Amino acid sequence: MIPVAEPSLGDEELENVIEAVKSGWISSKGKFIPEFEENFAKYCNCKYGVATSNGTTALHLALTALGISKGDEVIVPDLTFIATANAVTYCNAKPIFVDSHPEYWGIDPEKIEEKITKNTKAIIPVHLYGHPCNMDPIMDIAEDYELYVIEDVAEAHGAEYKGKKVGSFGDISCFSFYGNKIITTGEGGMCITNNKELAEKMRVLRDHGMNPNKKFWHDVIGFNYRMTNMQAAVGLAQLQKLDEFIEKRRQIAKWYEDGLEEFAKEGKITLHPEMSWAKCVYWMYSILINRDKFGITRDELMKKLEENGIETRPFFYPIHVMPPYKNNEGFPVAEEVARKGINLPSGVGLTK
Ligand SMILES: *Cc1c(COP(=O)(O)O)cnc(C)c1O
Repeated sequence: MIPVAEPSLGDEELENVIEAVKSGWISSKGKFIPEFEENFAKYCNCKYGVATSNGTTALHLALTALGISKGDEVIVPDLTFIATANAVTYCNAKPIFVDSHPEYWGIDPEKIEEKITKNTKAIIPVHLYGHPCNMDPIMDIAEDYELYVIEDVAEAHGAEYKGKKVGSFGDISCFSFYGNKIITTGEGGMCITNNKELAEKMRVLRDHGMNPNKKFWHDVIGFNYRMTNMQAAVGLAQLQKLDEFIEKRRQIAKWYEDGLEEFAKEGKITLHPEMSWAKCVYWMYSILINRDKFGITRDELMKKLEENGIETRPFFYPIHVMPPYKNNEGFPVAEEVARKGINLPSGVGLTK
């Protein structure tokens, strides 16, 4: 079976982990954590990194540090992994969903303004399946309405918008290092920011709200959202391969494009987009199946591929259709893209 995704781990990760274990620093102190934080933040052209236990806790930590709380509303795309919305809910705030852009499937900036109310505090653009959001109009809206921007970069490490790395636009940007992400630490995440005060606040909140200068004194209610030194050891080795991984992912995308070109020309499928302003990192090489011309449905195609040893995944469901967030407003683009979309095998171990 050719898997949809698999981690690429080598001797470098192993050597670092052995060093962490032999040193005895296996919990959330040890040299690999600050090294990973500093180097990863720097890679994204940001000043500060705060490593976390996973991408979901990174989002919750960022929202909490920005003071998002009861009664607040946060704009999120309707088409994303559920954790984006859940992190807002954990703050007792309300996620407000916005439809997808038809060309690149991420949040449509033209549909954001109509959802803003006096309670709106922040926007979370999600760089879906490795493709950046259209950041200029999003940042303009945020400035006009004095909203925070928290980028959800869980699927797009190293992607670029107009030549600038995603994750460097928002007040805080959140990453995941889950096993199938662009780089992995097993489980893990990170918040990055250029704001020193926010970084310090997140460090305190990550560690039970403990005062860094007064042991066991807690000024606020925090969490245990720390990353371990063993995870950071893996992350540091992965980070050194990130550019290589991105090049391989772009190579795989090219193979798919060349191979599927005819189907796309005939309108049977829609290929994974890359807008003129974007450098996509193809977390999941994705296509839309246009049933009328293709002849069979998306689900029938997935079944046939499985019979032939090729694993695929359907797109995320639009969040508004699921029980915790059920909502009858129309999100026609997200609904259509979700119904037609599949992720094809995209791991960097793939051969032509
Ligand atoms: C994977 C993912 C997350 C959550 O990351 P975890 O590390 O699994 O908690 C959040 N947002 C998006 C868009 C993701 O793809």
